[in-house]
Amino acid sequence: MKLLALGAPAALVSLLTLSMVTSNAPQVGYTDTPQLPGQEWKVHDAHRPPPPVVKPAEGANLGAPPPADALVLFGGKDASAWTAGGKECPWTIAGGAMEVNGGGSIETREHFGDMQLHLEWASPAKAESTSQGRGNSGVFLMGRYEIQILDSFENPTYSDGSAAALYGQFPPLVNVCRGPGEWQSYDIFFRAPRFDGDKLVAPALVTVLHNGVLVHNNQAFLGATRHRDLASYAAHAPTGPIGLQDHGNPVRFRNIWVRKL
Ligand code: MG
Repeated sequence: MKLLALGAPAALVSLLTLSMVTSNAPQVGYTDTPQLPGQEWKVHDAHRPPPPVVKPAEGANLGAPPPADALVLFGGKDASAWTAGGKECPWTIAGGAMEVNGGGSIETREHFGDMQLHLEWASPAKAESTSQGRGNSGVFLMGRYEIQILDSFENPTYSDGSAAALYGQFPPLVNVCRGPGEWQSYDIFFRAPRFDGDKLVAPALVTVLHNGVLVHNNQAFLGATRHRDLASYAAHAPTGPIGLQDHGNPVRFRNIWVRKL
């Protein structure tokens, strides 16, 4: 009895110590990256809290049909709107989807500025690897401003690299990621940055729904997406391509359409 009575507080102390160590320990991410301007975090900050998890409604925004004034970029079979370095889209077209296959990132032949963009994506059904190695891809607006695609379902990573993050800048307000292999929707409302010569007049603004849930509300990009470095603006044309990233994981895409605004 005496041993047990002594043992209990000792076990409690070691449990408390363990939880303190756990909460203070760096999570996945970096501590040697630049400070984000206007935020208390660094780029890919290992200590930045993960976005709260919200379970999306069944089927939210999946299969959204294109309105009459939309340009269909991929309807299930024809990938001719897409190119990789001026050549034909190298991705695998099967089962009404196009799939990353190591052929390289792709982009639209047509260029866009202000836009409403709908797309659906699915990470691989077999969740392999961890963090940024699991179901990584991305949507590059104007070829520069990335909305991250990642299997963020029970997959810890640095918060500004989560699914639907403005990569390296702002995590999504909430984590609405479905499980591996499940189709998910992005609805992106984008205002292109404005330049006067070389000078930035207005930053790029974006509102994003992930599986029908608001995850960015008129958020300003800090600049063109960078890895482990601060985003910055460099003047560019008023339109640019929509890019989809080949990050080495077989992510699938379907039902992609855009409305010019
Ligand atoms: Mg990515």
